[in-house]
Amino acid sequence: MTAVRLALVAHDAKKDEMASFAERHRTFLGDCTLFATGTTGLRIMERCPELDVRRLKSGPYGGDQQIGALIAESGIDALIFFVDPLSPMPHDVDVKALMRVALVYDVPMALNRASAEMVLAGLARGEGSAVEAEAGGRA
Ligand code: PGA
Repeated sequence: MTAVRLALVAHDAKKDEMASFAERHRTFLGDCTLFATGTTGLRIMERCPELDVRRLKSGPYGGDQQIGALIAESGIDALIFFVDPLSPMPHDVDVKALMRVALVYDVPMALNRASAEMVLAGLARGEGSAVEAEAGGRA
């Protein structure tokens, strides 16, 4: 079975929550191929040094767009994006673009911790790949 390719992003106010989430699920995440925006990836690796996270650019410097590009190339199976709903973002357009491309490609996307728990539980049961197989893959 190929490893689940998971993208992890957290806005600044949500980075502690993401690090705790990663710590709680470190065993499962250890079996995944992990991608993260720069600072989110750093925080996850500080908390869970055993995790091999492919760190992209920081979100405001193009990291969200890099993850969007991976999604467009069918390189990501699920996106976990802990969004801060209370702060204006200089890269708001990139955040919207990332969400939009995840919608276009029907990639499971969790925008808060509660839904992230559900997405991870589904992935652990192999559900993400089942959806893709049903859809006949993505062009
Ligand atoms: P960061 O980017 O992980 O580099 O902070 C996330 C974002 O702000 O989109």
